[in-house]
Amino acid sequence: MHFKSFNYLSTVCLKIDIHTHILPEKLPRWADKFGYGGFIHLDHHKAGCARMMRDDEFFREIQENCWDPQVRINESNGHKVNVQVLSTIPVLFNYWAKPKDCLDTSRFLNDHIAGVVNDFPSRFIGLGTIPMQAPELAVKEIERCKKIGLRGVEIGSNVNDLNLNEPQFFPISAACEQLGMSLFVHPWNMLGTKQMSRYWLPWLVGMTAETSRAICSMIFGGVFERFPKLRIAFAHGGGAFPSGIGRIEQGYKVRPDLTAIDNDVNPKEYLGRFYIDSLVHDAKFLRYLIDVMGKENICLGSDYPFPLGEAVPGKLIESMRMVKGVKENLLFSNALRWLDETEDKFLIK
Ligand SMILES: [Zn+2]
Repeated sequence: MHFKSFNYLSTVCLKIDIHTHILPEKLPRWADKFGYGGFIHLDHHKAGCARMMRDDEFFREIQENCWDPQVRINESNGHKVNVQVLSTIPVLFNYWAKPKDCLDTSRFLNDHIAGVVNDFPSRFIGLGTIPMQAPELAVKEIERCKKIGLRGVEIGSNVNDLNLNEPQFFPISAACEQLGMSLFVHPWNMLGTKQMSRYWLPWLVGMTAETSRAICSMIFGGVFERFPKLRIAFAHGGGAFPSGIGRIEQGYKVRPDLTAIDNDVNPKEYLGRFYIDSLVHDAKFLRYLIDVMGKENICLGSDYPFPLGEAVPGKLIESMRMVKGVKENLLFSNALRWLDETEDKFLIK
């Protein structure tokens, strides 16, 4: 049996990166179509470079590796990454927009990702985006995502400041569970952004808090109890949740009147029930995560192609000494389980 892969560290192993972002090279001017602003558009100011603009406001500079599948494949070859799991950039979620308009933008982005996956099925796996602010429309789009070959959906850590345990979102979890679609929860719309505008704090502090907020909301709100077969992964090593688990459990023990009102299960019972990516930039902390969250619950994730991500996806995992089999878990087999994928289509026939 041969992997469509590369020899490294004297082992042959697939590498699947579950956390990468992509957008289409050309985005419609949604503001012109819908008659109100706030949407992202692209200003291709020179070859291979574009500015992401929110109306007249600069958001982020991006390069062609953000939209060109062939450039991504070339870079992946250099990084010895076999498969990228593609998801949109959270600023394109558009949960704040009118529901039918968000459905339009979601469908456009999902069709694009499905097209890329269809063109290169051994190199990419796709996740969709859905109008979370309108659960009925979201469920329909999840069903359509499944039909066009996407393996799951990416959602934000909150929905216009509502937490993910709100009952209105239950049908979305139910649809994902029933259809076998994976959920990837990504921080966005960070709490405290207005109070910490300097030093990139929304990204450095807000994002990790957001992910802990999402995990704790789902635990205390009973989402994992209600949907036991839902396969969920959280970005950035689970943010601040894994380091805060002792405190979170203490809160459950000493103030059940505040914490256990919707679900009377110790939060530690949920360790091992969901996935996180490996993006923590620190070997000691990744070792702690393997210990606490479980060796079968961590998947390589790099945030490619963005600078706060891991420049060479998987480098940290590969640099560490691990018990036999654990590297393979983190580099690909946990990802296959989370995505309910088989390695067959990534093998040389
Ligand atoms: Zn990301």
